[in-house]
Amino acid sequence: MSLKLFDLTGRTALITGSSRGLGRAFAEGLAGAGARVVLNGVNPARLDEAADEMRAQGFEVLTSCFDVADEDQILAAFHELDQQGIEVDILVNNAGIQFRKPMLELDTADWQRVLDINLTAAFVVGREAAKRMAARGRGKVINIGSLTSELARATVAPYTVAKGGIKMLTKAMAAEWGEKGIQANAIGPGYMVTDMNEALLSNPDFDAWVKGRTPMRRWGLPQELAGTCIYLASDASNYVSGQIIYADGGMISVL
Ligand code: NDP
Repeated sequence: MSLKLFDLTGRTALITGSSRGLGRAFAEGLAGAGARVVLNGVNPARLDEAADEMRAQGFEVLTSCFDVADEDQILAAFHELDQQGIEVDILVNNAGIQFRKPMLELDTADWQRVLDINLTAAFVVGREAAKRMAARGRGKVINIGSLTSELARATVAPYTVAKGGIKMLTKAMAAEWGEKGIQANAIGPGYMVTDMNEALLSNPDFDAWVKGRTPMRRWGLPQELAGTCIYLASDASNYVSGQIIYADGGMISVL
């Protein structure tokens, strides 16, 4: 037993939504552990910039620009990876969106969009990756959940439903794909400093609520989640499947 258990040299990881925020931190963590990483996002300029910045750190980085809510684009992206001989050993289903609106004001299209990007995409991208992992008899799928995989909050109903779904999708993947050598797990972040929370971070009342409610009395930084991702992507977690690890400063454990 040694730290070699965490070594990802020779593995390739696809991280959806990795041009910035948590996805970027997951990509940097996995690359730092030795993996070649495939960055994804919908904004090509931002994606290229992220890839260049990571290459400047000495990492092996590819990009695959596609909308996780568009099945045709997903199929085309996997086809292109196949053509290039790139085999995805580790998939991080991270891309997500959130906006705040009470349910009584929410229209169906907005509800559906949040479900498409935050939940259905994890199934479709996961299915395409797992078909290929199953053919090789090994693979790691890491889905990004949330505190809202467990707890409801007002004004984010579709997000809460999607993240609750991520928890059960992870268990379903673990149930069906375990015999194929694939482990599926999830990370449930707490309140993190990313663009997604820009408005909340600058709202003093919300900031005080997060700090008061979190036992560690602060927001989390994206790079603080990288180790959990490396663990779940590596041989160190080879008999762990169907789990969601909350990395939330202790918030979910207290009332
Ligand atoms: P950000 O808003 O900072 O970044 C979102 C990322 O997702 C960007 O890279 C963006 O790409 C990409 N993205 C958005 N829509 C799509 C799409 N349709 N197809 C492909 N890529 C897309 O989000 P966070 O980093 O904060 O969140 C990442 C994940 O973590 C999400 O699943 C979120 O729900 C979850 N999470 C976040 C928490 C937090 O406090 N921040 C807490 C709990 C969970 P582009 O740059 O091209 O727009």
